[in-house]
Amino acid sequence: MDQARINGILKAQSTLPEFLRRDRAAIEADEIIQDLRRASFGRGHLNLAERQIARGVTLESIALSNLPLVRNEDDLQREQIRLTEGLELQGRFDEAAQVHPSEGESLRMIADAVRRDDSEVCDCPVTQTDVAGKSIEIHPSYEVKKVYSRKHGQMVSLVGCTACGFLNATPDPPDQLQAILRAHEASAVAGRPMAHEYEVLRSSN
Ligand SMILES: [Zn+2]
Repeated sequence: MDQARINGILKAQSTLPEFLRRDRAAIEADEIIQDLRRASFGRGHLNLAERQIARGVTLESIALSNLPLVRNEDDLQREQIRLTEGLELQGRFDEAAQVHPSEGESLRMIADAVRRDDSEVCDCPVTQTDVAGKSIEIHPSYEVKKVYSRKHGQMVSLVGCTACGFLNATPDPPDQLQAILRAHEASAVAGRPMAHEYEVLRSSN
């Protein structure tokens, strides 16, 4: 990260009215997004993070230009949801939480999940399951979805716990979940259905 450049941006922003100013962390995250967007120009294809960000920026700007024109509650909600989606795709979950008319709480939980230490997990116990004569430990974690994280500057797994609802957004999910995700990816690439998850765990144990 070019700190001189960040300092220059902070200095320029110090003249703006307070509601338009962004703090250092926000500016650094924006710079990573700008780098990703620049990197995508002139290339034939975009990676998932670049596609998400590009779509997020488009939705945000459409919503921001439509919002001053809303004429009723339905219009307002539609644009709020569009803006939320645009912010969410850019990894701006705190802002999205403030905008969405009804799902602020779940967006706040994702914002908290991004802030957590990457290796943090809940205390839920593993369960023992017998698969074809072999006892394996099953951890209650699953991938809710992939999200763009401004903290990491890349797509990460939003990992949830089926037992307690704990969430962590991390590039490094628990080993067992990684084995399952790798198997999903391999079967998607090969265009064939995946073996049952227990079977994957049985052979990776
Ligand atoms: Zn748990």
